[in-house]
Amino acid sequence: MTVAISSVPEGEPDTAETTELASAAESCQPLAEGRDQDSVEWVACARLPTRFGEFNIVGFLDRTNGREHTVMVKGAVAGREDCPVRVHSECHTGDVWTSLRCDCREQLEKSLQYVQGREFGAVIYLRQEGRGIGLFNKLKAYNLQDLGLDTVEANTSLGFPSDAREYRAAADILRLLQIRSVALLTNNPDKIEGLRREGITVTRRIPMTVPDNAHNRRYLKTKRERLGHYQD
Ligand SMILES: [Zn+2]
Repeated sequence: MTVAISSVPEGEPDTAETTELASAAESCQPLAEGRDQDSVEWVACARLPTRFGEFNIVGFLDRTNGREHTVMVKGAVAGREDCPVRVHSECHTGDVWTSLRCDCREQLEKSLQYVQGREFGAVIYLRQEGRGIGLFNKLKAYNLQDLGLDTVEANTSLGFPSDAREYRAAADILRLLQIRSVALLTNNPDKIEGLRREGITVTRRIPMTVPDNAHNRRYLKTKRERLGHYQD
């Protein structure tokens, strides 16, 4: 068996690489002083190479409920106007288990790709599962949908509003990142309104088009017809 011998000793990155890593690490400092009234606080940041390119990942602790939100940041976002931003609500079944019942994972990947292709931008991952009703309630709602209810009827029959998502954490995260106004990647008019209600300037909407499939066709139709989502 032949063993390839590398010219650079293993485990010793060259100087250029070390300098690059150090400057990436320095770009991980908090951008703004936290205030007592903020619902979230900046806790940690690190460089994160991904299949879609390199980002800084920033961890924010939600002081109202202990949830750990993360943001994938591309480039220098502080002080930016019209900054491309996706506010993505956690979908365990879609984002982790690749569910075809919804289009969450495709939207998440598309946003990372979009932001990576720009000079700067951010994808916020909010830990509010199942449009805010929680993971296990979402599983119950899925089962009700298989018994014939649509996504809105299933949520209301479990005693929840059709959409229980909140955007205060996202708004505070945007403020702590010092993003002055956002171009929002979304098909959901309520999300734009939700952020505006929290004091965020949304300059425009960047449409998210993802193809449907046999499993999510009805769900996407309901989102358009009953929740007023745009159909781009
Ligand atoms: Zn989903």
